[in-house]
Amino acid sequence: VANTAVPEWPPAVPVKAKRNERPAVEVHDLHKSFGTHEVLTGVGLTADPGEVVSMIGSSGSGKSTFLRCINLLEQPSRGRIVVDGEEIRMKALGGGRSIPADMRQVERIRARVGMVFQNFNLWPHMSVLENIIEAPVHVLGERRSDAVDHAHQLLKKVGLSEKHAQYPGQLSGGQQQRAAIARTLAMKPKVILLDEPTSALDPELVGEVLRVIRQLAEEGNTMILVTHEMQFAREVSHKILFLHQGKVEEESTPAELFSNPRSERLRQFLSRTL
Ligand code: ADP
Ligand code: MG
Repeated sequence: VANTAVPEWPPAVPVKAKRNERPAVEVHDLHKSFGTHEVLTGVGLTADPGEVVSMIGSSGSGKSTFLRCINLLEQPSRGRIVVDGEEIRMKALGGGRSIPADMRQVERIRARVGMVFQNFNLWPHMSVLENIIEAPVHVLGERRSDAVDHAHQLLKKVGLSEKHAQYPGQLSGGQQQRAAIARTLAMKPKVILLDEPTSALDPELVGEVLRVIRQLAEEGNTMILVTHEMQFAREVSHKILFLHQGKVEEESTPAELFSNPRSERLRQFLSRTL
């Protein structure tokens, strides 16, 4: 009889990290201010290849700002960001503040960091297929026919093969988000950032998107996931960070974080959300 044991997920150590590869993403002491409002006050995170790192925390704790800093949709005010071994060069502005020094480097690194947004952000005037091939063709310079072949594979993976010619407005929210995930995968990113990917969805559509994200985790994609789906975070993550007022208040494995929260703030947060 074949081994029928269900593999444990998440594995204690992600498959690729065992080979001592460099981290997919490292962030050190990240600060971000909007005017005088300091939103991130020294956040650090490491995601090894194949690792799923989830971030939880109250609304306004800085989760989106943190993700947006990693792919430089926001300019961090201070700190270090290293993607796949390449550190984003920063230029000092004085007063402890700095900005990215080289926009070409920023573009290059951004192409390696995928982002999935709460509101899908598909281009409404393009078909699903056109949405997916746009960046591979125009940013990576892939041949259109190769990009189209790859897009069809990705649509199959997210269960949307039949929808390639449709426009975003013709799809349900769950289908739009799955198309957005396929678009992100088309860039073969080193890491995928997901900012509350299911919180704009009607409850009955959440499951189909979580299933796709779970499959990506099982296939060894490196992901940083901001979510309010606590049960899902618990099942899929290798580690979880609890952000509070722009700082990592607690960081541990899902089992430890949920069963034995150390900080009072985390305990309160969990009691409100679970
Ligand atoms: P979360 O995603 O955890 O809900 P955010 O990162 O969206 O938190 O926001 C953290 C804080 O930063 C909030 O107080 C928010 O109002 C503020 N903030 C976010 N973006 C901007 C911006 N572009 N300009 C000014 N303040 C902002
Ligand atoms: Mg947010």
